[in-house]
Amino acid sequence: MKEIEDLLPGYNCGECGFRNCREFARALSRGPDEGTDIDLCPFLGRKKHLERRAEIEVKLPEIRRRWAEGEVDEEAEIRGVIDGIVADFALAPLPGEPACREDLLAIDRDAQFNVGDVIRYRPLGCPITHFGKIIKIDHGLVTVQMVGPRQLLGDENFAPKDVGVCMVAAFEGIVSRGRIPEVGETVRFLPEHCMMQKVHSGVIVHSEGKMVRIEGIDLKVW
Ligand code: SF4
Repeated sequence: MKEIEDLLPGYNCGECGFRNCREFARALSRGPDEGTDIDLCPFLGRKKHLERRAEIEVKLPEIRRRWAEGEVDEEAEIRGVIDGIVADFALAPLPGEPACREDLLAIDRDAQFNVGDVIRYRPLGCPITHFGKIIKIDHGLVTVQMVGPRQLLGDENFAPKDVGVCMVAAFEGIVSRGRIPEVGETVRFLPEHCMMQKVHSGVIVHSEGKMVRIEGIDLKVW
């Protein structure tokens, strides 16, 4: 899968219908049964990417054969793109939800929050501006779900509230790949929506089946 991911444009824009290039690469690698087609990525038809597209088309049959015959160790592939660090697991949204939950603490103590607001913020330690919809406020913790480029582009009235830098205190989601961690364990995990596909660290404070809550989030991983 990594060899296909490395050949994709890397924009992580979601135009293909998947959250990022990594997920698209994963579905492409598994074969047409996953409902994917190389043409779902509009950028692969552009001149700049034609050579890479041709390379993907050459490699796909062999990669799909390896998937079909169980030769691919899926867990071994949970690796951050930007840092190359191997994660314990990948984190996906809770069942029926569009994105993983993040609990935020704003540095600006005068920032106003209301359930239903869409906010623009930059997580402390992350260079990427995020957009999130507030779904809950509890004792100062503001819970949001990521709003991706597809939603932003489809809404003409989109006017996010700028709240500046926020600390991401917690993540909630389900373990979609990798091992199920123990409560109290310090873990490395890869949020599937992360545009940088960077491995995060944190401590498991609650788990129920595959559902986990991770607190003490840090982008420094060692
Ligand atoms: S359309 Fe999909 S595969 Fe293409 S750049 Fe965007 S996220 Fe990546």
